[in-house]
Amino acid sequence: MAVVSLRNVGKVYPPTARDGASVTAIDDVSLDVEAGDIYGIIGYSGAGKSTLVRLVNALERSTSGEIWVNGQNIAALRERELRRVRLGIGMIFQQFNLLGSRTVARNVAYPLEVAGYPKEQRAARVAELLDFVGLSDKAGSYPDQLSGGQKQRVGIARALATQPSILLADEATSALDPETTHEVLALLKRVNAEFGVTIIVITHEMDVIQTIATKVAVMDQGQVIERGPVFEVFSNPQAAASARFVSTVVKGVPSAAELAVLRERHAGRIVTLTFRDSAVDQKAVFGELSAANVAFEVVYGGINEIQGRPFGHLTLALTGDDPVIDRVLDHIRTLTTVTEVR
Ligand code: ADP
Repeated sequence: MAVVSLRNVGKVYPPTARDGASVTAIDDVSLDVEAGDIYGIIGYSGAGKSTLVRLVNALERSTSGEIWVNGQNIAALRERELRRVRLGIGMIFQQFNLLGSRTVARNVAYPLEVAGYPKEQRAARVAELLDFVGLSDKAGSYPDQLSGGQKQRVGIARALATQPSILLADEATSALDPETTHEVLALLKRVNAEFGVTIIVITHEMDVIQTIATKVAVMDQGQVIERGPVFEVFSNPQAAASARFVSTVVKGVPSAAELAVLRERHAGRIVTLTFRDSAVDQKAVFGELSAANVAFEVVYGGINEIQGRPFGHLTLALTGDDPVIDRVLDHIRTLTTVTEVR
């Protein structure tokens, strides 16, 4: 079941006084996020990602289309009705947005106060949430006494306070170092697995998508230009922008410039082999080369694990008799994709 469903959604910002042109931030986007998904939305700055998030949690109204959240078309709702919809959506931010004058516990309690939970219930819920994010000992601390990772964990606890079914994470790890990023992503995975919360992750970092997302949509100039299960998009990106994002985490076929450097450093023929899933047996491929007495060196590339499935490209420098190499490459072509630029 789709918990968030966008149908031909558009958002045009009216012209500002400073420059006279209107801005189409979202251009005819249709997208389904299913219950239990961790759906990554990736794109460069200005692609429309934050606008999309603000439309889903109704902080901003769309100018066209339908936005279904938990079975309700929020584009058609009045402000008063929207408040109830927003209670079902948690949100975490790049800059954490904690209240500096409140302790950790009172930050987490804040949405419960707004929603009118009785005091005893609030205390119990806050304790439970701080335990879940591993910050029980920081209940009385203030935000500026915490590290970035701890602040985001408070942000997550606060976002979960009213037991939302959807969590929106807008560049939630962009201000964190890589190690802390992975801690926070691991926590989000637990939120998804243990509470069944559907998570929408907005990011410009492909690494975040690779680590956590099950599905991904690539945005460019207000449009979704590609979407699908993360493994499919990573292993076979269709749009040029998607391929550029994938290349930030997966080394593919070397570019012309990289190839020139490899040729300078290594004798022999340079070929790239694609390994996708267990469908391609590495042992068989390298066995063919050894059996034919073709010497090989791995000079570029790597194997990534995406959604628990191996994928990658290995570029080899092959030395031996040309006809022998041709013959063995023909064999290997029956096992996997071979790319050679001569
Ligand atoms: P992203 O989150 O991918 O960086 P945004 O959603 O912030 O992209 O922005 C998409 C486009 O909409 C950009 O061209 C941006 O300048 C424009 N935009 C965003 N918010 C506003 C606004 N409040 N008023 C006018 N233009 C806006």
